[in-house]
Amino acid sequence: MLAPLERLRPKRELSLWETIAEIEALLAEGRTRRCLSLEGEEVAAGLELYWALRRIGAKRAPVGEPCERSLEELGIYEDLSPPSHRVFSSALELLQRNLPTPLVMLRGLSSDRLRVWAKLEWFNPFSLSIKDRTAASIALAAGAAELGDASSGNFGVALAAIANSLGKRARIYLPRTAEEYARAALSLLGAKVVVEDKDLTVEILPRLREESLREGFLHADQFSSDLNVEAHLKGTAREIDFQARAAGLRVSAVAGSLGTSGHMAAVALYARSRLRARVIAAQPATGERIPGMRRVESGMRWASLLRPEEIVEVSAKEALSAVARVARRDGLIIGPSGGAALAALERLAGELEGDAVVIVPDSGHKYASYFRALGAAAGI
Ligand code: PLP
Repeated sequence: MLAPLERLRPKRELSLWETIAEIEALLAEGRTRRCLSLEGEEVAAGLELYWALRRIGAKRAPVGEPCERSLEELGIYEDLSPPSHRVFSSALELLQRNLPTPLVMLRGLSSDRLRVWAKLEWFNPFSLSIKDRTAASIALAAGAAELGDASSGNFGVALAAIANSLGKRARIYLPRTAEEYARAALSLLGAKVVVEDKDLTVEILPRLREESLREGFLHADQFSSDLNVEAHLKGTAREIDFQARAAGLRVSAVAGSLGTSGHMAAVALYARSRLRARVIAAQPATGERIPGMRRVESGMRWASLLRPEEIVEVSAKEALSAVARVARRDGLIIGPSGGAALAALERLAGELEGDAVVIVPDSGHKYASYFRALGAAAGI
């Protein structure tokens, strides 16, 4: 017997960390063999299973024989198709239902041995980036009337936009290195903007924490809210799995880039357990600036979900020349962090076959000044 998860009430919430082992087991086996036990509609036993199923996007749970059920029977992919008429009742609904984001073969970089597929995150409506997912996950769970965070651009724009659609206010702290578009977009969105004389977004956090306590706004905290990883478990990672199965891909690797580590932590769980694929996570080489990215040693809450051998160093020049290769062969203008992920993947391409997925967090159209500053050095 199956019961809709949304009708059940758990005795208490378990953290993401308390459910990681259960999530890995579910993804590795593709099924559960256990039932939840209920007292009325309260989950009396099986809290790990309940929270793991919720976090991977299942819709139902087994509550009576047969307890053995596949993830498909539990509805794991059921919400991953947009309405066929493509009419949406709000901008927020566009974000939540216009899924999955496209997976497109980069023909110019594919060969008979290895096909390369780009997951284009600029199809998310607010920041035109992967960070819409994190911002929605945090903003929808927040009760406060004002939300604030430090951001290199995309997350701040997404948070401000989603705050507007929820009738909340936003204040965004940007480092001086933030892309020009972020200031313009935030001012259009009516957010309060504070520009700090710092290179790295994380360097703003002490001031932000102090001001959020003093002035009473909620620190959204993309760097340590586990809702960040949860957004990508239910979003980016689950979609790649769904798309790979639906299109019959044999995914041998998933490559992405590291900022907060939110999306790659979730992708790593799926890639290793469910897809049996390699994880390739790009970080900027020492001293290099690639927008949206930073190095693991600058402190990342979810770095422990990645293995040291999965982390690949990429220079800004390598990232930019990958951006140019895609533009010249396939006509898509991807952002620098997508270029970094692709450069990391290409470095290991000789060891791979089948299908490889590269996550492209945003498009290159936001990065005119970055391309102008570094393009010549990268030969573009
Ligand atoms: N690429 C871009 C353009 C970003 O804006 C970000 C994060 O802000 C990332 C990559 C890194 O993503 P994550 O924070 O999930 O590690």
